[in-house]
Order: sequence, then structure tokens, then C-alpha cells
Amino acid sequence: MSALVVTDLHAGYGDARVLHGVSLSVGEGEVCAILGPNGAGKTTLLRALSGMVRTRGTVRLGDADLAGRSPDTIARQGVAHVPEGRGTFMPLTVEENLRLGAYVRPASRRARAEVDADLERIHGYFPVLKTRLRQAAGSLSGGEQQMLAIGRALMLRPRLLLLDEPSLGLAPLVTRELFRIVRTINEQERTTVVVVEQNAHLALGIAQQAHVLETGRIVLSGTAEQIRADEQVAQSYLGYR
Ligand code: ATP
Repeated sequence: MSALVVTDLHAGYGDARVLHGVSLSVGEGEVCAILGPNGAGKTTLLRALSGMVRTRGTVRLGDADLAGRSPDTIARQGVAHVPEGRGTFMPLTVEENLRLGAYVRPASRRARAEVDADLERIHGYFPVLKTRLRQAAGSLSGGEQQMLAIGRALMLRPRLLLLDEPSLGLAPLVTRELFRIVRTINEQERTTVVVVEQNAHLALGIAQQAHVLETGRIVLSGTAEQIRADEQVAQSYLGYR
């Protein structure tokens, strides 16, 4: 069953049209990778899914139609967006950042005990955050900040997790560890994930399916294996052949 069905999605900034009719669907609990060159519209696609840019078309998550809804409404429907650059609140502590992630949950589900239990769950995925709870987010390393951003997104208990370039600026070892954790989260929580990533190897390593976006259009779609085997993709994004 598809969790996310996007049909003929258009989006842009003012007069600048960036997405020209994107359609894709992602199965419940699956990971979908979005690949493509700089400026293709990958970030804009994630922004369109979380309501941060004006859109035309339909975005269905389960039974809900999210197109044209506010970011706040979309978050309350269970869509958590970890933007490029992470969007953590640097002067706040790690714990404050994590608790903020629970803010858009319905009040009844924001009960202290429930939030505390979720914090524990997130410490399980990211033990390093537990040792840094009282530190300002700004004092964390890049990898830890990315973990914090994902941890904060999980506090929403998302049905759909949108990850924009999680590897940006991180050392290869840290990036591999981060993708391992994302895979664990996806397996344990059955959260549907859409990940935009320059590192196609890593993204295809955790994805069931992938799409290549160029100048605002999907030019290639398939299973991760099919996309990996594509000659053009191999040349452009995987650095071989
Ligand atoms: P990158 O990997 O470089 O982030 P991308 O595939 O994520 O690329 P987008 O960031 O979605 O691409 O950008 C797509 C197009 O939209 C680009 O031409 C970019 O200049 C333009 N664009 C992005 N953000 C804005 C904005 N806030 N206002 C106007 N144009 C924008």
C-alpha cells in the first residue's frame, strides 16, 4: 500500500517555477531516494511536501490531502522535515531542541510521561545525544547536530520523515553511521522516508526505490537496484563506468 502519493505536483518561488509536474508514490514503511544534480529541485520537492512553498497538484498521505495546507497542519498530520542545514536551535540545549519536536503533537499526546518515553527511545538510537543533553546545540559536532535534527523530527512520531542532504558537510565515517541509524529507525518504527542525497551510494543502500530529478521533472524511476544499474546514473552520480 502507498503511504505517500504525489500527483502532478508543481511548485516554485514567486514567478520562478521549479517543479513541473512531479508524480511519485512511496509504499508504507519504505525508503525513497531522490537523486539529481544541483538545482534540479530536490529541496523544493521536500519543501512542497511539507508546505513550505506554494504548490499545485495533489499530495496524499494515507487518507489526508496535504497539498496547499500550512506547514503546521502538515506537521500535525505526521510529516517531519529535517531541512538541509539541519534547522536546530543553536543557543538551546540538546534536550530543549528534542522537546520542541513534540510541540506540534496533539496536547493529549504531549503528556510529560509520553514525551519522556520518546526521549528515551531517541537516546536509544542516538546514545551520544543522551550524554550531551545539557549542552547548547551549537556546541555539537556536525554529525551530532544532524543526529539531533533527526531526533527532534522523531519526537513528532512522524508517519513520513523527509531528510534533505543528511550527509552534507559530514565525514564519510559519520555519514555511514548516520545512514545506518536511519535504516534502523525505518525498520523499527516503520516510518516512511523520503531522502534527498548527493551521496547516491548511501541513499541507494537504504532505499527500496529511487527517482532521478532533473530540471524539475522526474527523468528516471525504479527500484534501488534498477537505478544503481542504470548506465547514466552510474556515470553521473555513482562515479564509475
Ligand atoms: P541543491 O542540491 O543545489 O540544493 P536542489 O536539487 O535541491 O539543488 P533546489 O534547491 O530545489 O534544488 O533549487 C531548484 C531551483 O530553485 C534552483 O534554480 C534554485 O536557484 C531555485 N531556488 C531555490 N530556493 C529558492 C528561493 N528561496 N527563491 C527563489 N529561487 C529558489
